Amino acid sequence: MIEIDNVSKWYGAARVLDGCSTRVARGEVVVVCGPSGSGKSTLIKTVNGLEPFQEGAIRVDGVSVGAPQTDLPALRARIGMVFQNFELFPHLSVRDNLTLAQVKVRKRGRAEASAKGLHYLERVGLLAHQDKFPHQLSGGQQQRVAIARALAMDPVAMLFDEPTSALDPEMVGEVLEVMGGLAQDGMTMMVVTHEMGFARRVADRVVFMDGGRIVEEGAAAAFFDAPASSRAREFLARIV
Ligand code: ATP
Ligand code: MG
Repeated sequence: MIEIDNVSKWYGAARVLDGCSTRVARGEVVVVCGPSGSGKSTLIKTVNGLEPFQEGAIRVDGVSVGAPQTDLPALRARIGMVFQNFELFPHLSVRDNLTLAQVKVRKRGRAEASAKGLHYLERVGLLAHQDKFPHQLSGGQQQRVAIARALAMDPVAMLFDEPTSALDPEMVGEVLEVMGGLAQDGMTMMVVTHEMGFARRVADRVVFMDGGRIVEEGAAAAFFDAPASSRAREFLARIV
């Protein structure tokens, strides 16, 4: 579903991605972890074309992300992305947040978009909050709305960049629970997170990055129980 082949990226002279290759199969959940500055956000953002790269190739559902003939907005509309900072439209109600992109990008009628939005709002447990504005919701609730909004676009895959890092600790669980449910339903997911409990429970595979490189990757249980590289061992010793 997501194929990353030998991708490198530079900012000026600084190489921030260095020959990264990995695959996320349909229905697979891959957690990306590693120290701050190792390139996790940059890598995940190359997948939906938010970050250009100079070398290598990325295909999502067979479509080449970097190729000049690719309709990037169309591809991006099929890849859900959830960031650390919810990024809901502050001046729109929850319901309007859920429908806007469906109407504008997917060209759905209002009624269809609204029904679909409310379906996913119910799924994240927030149907009763449809008329509120983002500032009237907790951080955890806002993030669940952001996930519902992405799902309403019928994505072929979901990308998450530290979706719980900005949350108060007591709200982390409700967001991880929604993400775990998605994984169970077979969503293809690439998740940057420091939540190692989630990674162990939900991820099929863990990718460990350091210094712009994918240093190791493997089954979640194997990675946590016996990381192969000394850098991964040091990283785990620091955060777990
Ligand atoms: P964190 O855990 O702190 O979110 P990360 O693993 O997501 O870190 P990235 O944000 O991908 O790391 O950054 C990778 C490297 O690219 C870092 O060294 C960073 O300083 C550099 N970098 C990121 N954005 C830019 C930019 N716009 N210009 C120059 N360098 C950048
Ligand atoms: Mg980051």
